Amino acid sequence: MAQTPSMENLLKHLVEITGHRDHNLLDISVISALSDLVGASQARVLEIFRVRDELFVRPRVWLKEGKAVSVDDLADGEQNGEPLADFPALVNCIEKHLDSVEEDTPNGDYALWVPVWLNDKVSTCLHIVNTAPYTHSTKDVMAGILNVYRNFQSLLDYSERDSLTGLLNRKTFDEKFSKMTAYIAPPDSNSANDGERRNSDEAREHWMAMVDIDHFKRINDTFGHLYGDEVLILVANLLRASFRAQDRIFRFGGEEFMILLRSATLDDARRIFERFRASVAQFNFPQVGQVTVSLGFVKISAQTPVVLLGHADQALYYAKTHGRNQVCQYEELVANGLLHSGVSNDSVEFF
Ligand code: GH3
Ligand code: MG
Ligand code: MG
Repeated sequence: MAQTPSMENLLKHLVEITGHRDHNLLDISVISALSDLVGASQARVLEIFRVRDELFVRPRVWLKEGKAVSVDDLADGEQNGEPLADFPALVNCIEKHLDSVEEDTPNGDYALWVPVWLNDKVSTCLHIVNTAPYTHSTKDVMAGILNVYRNFQSLLDYSERDSLTGLLNRKTFDEKFSKMTAYIAPPDSNSANDGERRNSDEAREHWMAMVDIDHFKRINDTFGHLYGDEVLILVANLLRASFRAQDRIFRFGGEEFMILLRSATLDDARRIFERFRASVAQFNFPQVGQVTVSLGFVKISAQTPVVLLGHADQALYYAKTHGRNQVCQYEELVANGLLHSGVSNDSVEFF
């Protein structure tokens, strides 16, 4: 049965929620607060994502034996969701742009769906289940917590993104990339497996690509900075249209972008990057006309982030010095004797 929380307990949770600079920790603390303050029997943070034309839902954080647990960041991107259409109450809530809807569950519990609206879009939703009906005071406490959560989500979102293109920024890249490389086991820990995977054409790996716009300085010099900015925005839009929900796209610096491509074979990765390169080359940029990009990519292995970045940079440099408007793969260049792997492996100071 839900009880009215003490002021002290409420403050403790507010301090906890507002102390985080990370989406995952924020999710965990809001779920703990809901469970503790309104006695929710189940509380989950769900992610809403699009695959082609269909929307899906998958849990990101939930309660397990009274404790908030979350999916691992990497597994997160690989986990399949359930179609949004399977949750009619939530669909109704989103279509009508409501702050929340209540739903009686078949086993007599009281569920509440709360989409988190950010700039008229929703990519996160809370699902709270209570065994008792929601009283006015529980609703008030929940509404307060959810408003704090919503404000913090938007603040975090803002700090993770680049203001010109809306893509994730360099700081977010550094965090996500080091998490991703730390997750990948060193090569000798499962070497039996590794040999098997190397032989299989179907081996799925994670890939990192570094993209740089060709002759961008010329665009600025010829058409002015505003047109240059417009090109950056349009390239960012083409990037967003070219990659899947589980991939991540970053603006790394001025006219440089990074892509983390999850779980793809080498052939698929090459095809996906090549398709993006072609889509830029075929796009008619207003006033400017044709713009091209060069791309270097590398397999995300158990190497340090600095070494992997160096390898992607070497592949990109090769593309730049061999005609631009092309995609180059680091391991292939090395295997074909076109690049020497020693260069940045042994010289971390290179960066
Ligand atoms: P390359 O094909 O070798 O990559 O040549 P490039 O001209 O693209 O390379 P370079 O690194 O010399 O030039 C990048 C330019 O990007 C220089 C800088 O003034 C411009 N730039 C960086 N950030 C921005 C931005 O936010 N807006 C605009 N308009 N230009 C920017
Ligand atoms: Mg550059
Ligand atoms: Mg450039």
